[in-house]
Amino acid sequence: MNSNTLSFKDRVVVITGSGGGLGRVYAIEYAKRGAKVVVNDLGGSLKGEGHNSRAADIVVSEIREKYKGTAVANYDSVTDNAESIIRTAISNFGRIDIVVNNAGILRDSSFAKMSEASFASVIDVHLNGAYKLCKAAWPYMRKQKFGRIVNTCSPAGLYGNFGQANYSAAKLGLVGFAETLAKEGYRYNIRVNCIVPLARSRMTERIIPPHILKQLAPEKIAPMVLYLTHEDTDATNVIIELAAGFYSQVRWERSSGQIFNPSPKSYTSEAILNKWDSIVDYRDKPFNKTQHPVQLSDYNYLIQKAREL
Ligand code: NAD
Repeated sequence: MNSNTLSFKDRVVVITGSGGGLGRVYAIEYAKRGAKVVVNDLGGSLKGEGHNSRAADIVVSEIREKYKGTAVANYDSVTDNAESIIRTAISNFGRIDIVVNNAGILRDSSFAKMSEASFASVIDVHLNGAYKLCKAAWPYMRKQKFGRIVNTCSPAGLYGNFGQANYSAAKLGLVGFAETLAKEGYRYNIRVNCIVPLARSRMTERIIPPHILKQLAPEKIAPMVLYLTHEDTDATNVIIELAAGFYSQVRWERSSGQIFNPSPKSYTSEAILNKWDSIVDYRDKPFNKTQHPVQLSDYNYLIQKAREL
């Protein structure tokens, strides 16, 4: 990749939930770099209640008037009308290159008190919404042999968080979803990655102390989203955790593990009890080629090793 300005000239980008927060900052940055942007937002509350076209309209006006960029608004919900969001890109700009799955709501409560409706609605917006958007964009991306997708995960998805069983499940679901799309899209030059941000927005302003919030500008998240979706970026299937100007990659890691002899007598629950400490031991890595991404050949290697015991 050359180190000059990363241009998005003539690329068409859909950013869901970009009427505020992180999505708004992405939309402006893409537009400043020449992209044609669909600003999607149904304009509801943090819990996903209500509907208002103002949020998306304000961002579109800002892009057009302040930055002389190109943008159109779309007010559909990712849960009901994802096809129409992609149609907005096609009918206005003739193509769809980049999808940023960013729309989100919170319905926090302890798991003991969490209703089925609040579990389902959070899964619906984050996970099913991203599925529907990708499903609608995928045929265009495959056909043109170009596509870039970013799914927005969360620390709560990777590590869990009190009161967020619904949100955690949805967010980690987005990681698995991205990992498979990355594999299936690879030969069509479709790259799919996840971000795990922490940033100042209405989602965090009441739970993070002000002196920390000050460090968490959403402008520190946008550069990574643009990098991951640029045409010269080949990264795919990566999870990037980022906040306050710190950027890092997260990966799955398997412990060094314990091989049991294939005889049925050897892999009993009692044998596991005896070997538990070495099963979960990460200290030495005799099989470090078995780290993510998992390949079938790794299993063949382990089976071979077990036979040797
Ligand atoms: P935000 O509430 O400002 O932005 C979310 C936007 O999504 C809102 O404008 C909302 O109207 C829109 N939206 C909600 N439901 C929608 C639907 N069905 N269809 C279309 N639009 C819808 O919050 P944010 O912090 O900017 O969050 C952006 C994304 O980042 C979310 O997916 C969130 O879960 C994720 N995230 C944020 C943080 C953080 O620290 N702010 C951390 C981890 C993950």
